[in-house]
Amino acid sequence: MDRTIWLDGKLVPESEAKISVFDHGLLYGDGIFEGIRFYNGRVFRLEEHTKRLFLSAKAILLKLPWTEEEVNQAVCETVRANGLQDGYIRLVITRGVGGLGLNPYLCETPSMFIIASTISLYPQEHYEKGLELITCGTRRPAPGALSPQVKSLNYLNNVMAKAEAIKAGCVEGLMLNEQGYVAECTGDNIFLVKGGKVFTPPISDGSLDGITRQVIFELCAAAGLTLEEKTLTRYDVFTADECFLTGTAAEVIPATKLDEREIGAGVPGPVTQQLLAAFIEVTRSTGTPF
Ligand code: PMP
Repeated sequence: MDRTIWLDGKLVPESEAKISVFDHGLLYGDGIFEGIRFYNGRVFRLEEHTKRLFLSAKAILLKLPWTEEEVNQAVCETVRANGLQDGYIRLVITRGVGGLGLNPYLCETPSMFIIASTISLYPQEHYEKGLELITCGTRRPAPGALSPQVKSLNYLNNVMAKAEAIKAGCVEGLMLNEQGYVAECTGDNIFLVKGGKVFTPPISDGSLDGITRQVIFELCAAAGLTLEEKTLTRYDVFTADECFLTGTAAEVIPATKLDEREIGAGVPGPVTQQLLAAFIEVTRSTGTPF
């Protein structure tokens, strides 16, 4: 399949979408990205993704030559050019071409490319039966290093954690912060249900401020479920009634085991199922038409 890629203002065939070997996005992971979904001809939470993208850019001193509106238009244009109704968008901005040193100020122009494609992150059976997690030895970097809130191209930390999970026969792994508290998973935020209440760690415990996480906050409020941001330990996960993960690619997925301990009854629980159904409803009925 030769997809059509948006690259620096032009729609080009995939085979012609090329980035320089001197681009600092490649040389140093110096850049940012977003993963965005579209359902039924509408881009889901497009403005929220663009806002987070611009905050990431600001945090890493990356001056963007596009407005948020221009980025939104470029996203919609890319999806239209690929003739898809449902799928996944990967939007990447690199620092651009520079010298062989770290100096970001030698990179004059950032590059942006946008891919629209299809995705299926986890097998369907995990949505029905739940997935199993291990705790990864690789920790989330401390906020004093690169903030986990920046969705940067520097994902090696998460890639190493993901490798640990896969080696252990799992598709996703739990990541702790430097203090040993629950931060998130390698590419997803984490939620627990206990005594009818929903819990998730605060962003300050080392997670990305997930757009899907935000949607869960709204769905809990609409369903009259109490949601609390609380520092959590592995013990809290072991002893929770339910656990689920959220992410743009993963959507909402139950987790039923951590480090060989069954979570709750070891099957997706009622609150998870309720929120999963509500999530499917909101994603299929709202968004920016393209
Ligand atoms: N945490 C990490 C580390 C992620 O990469 C992601 C996105 N895949 C998430 C959480 C979930 O964020 P969102 O809901 O915005 O996709």
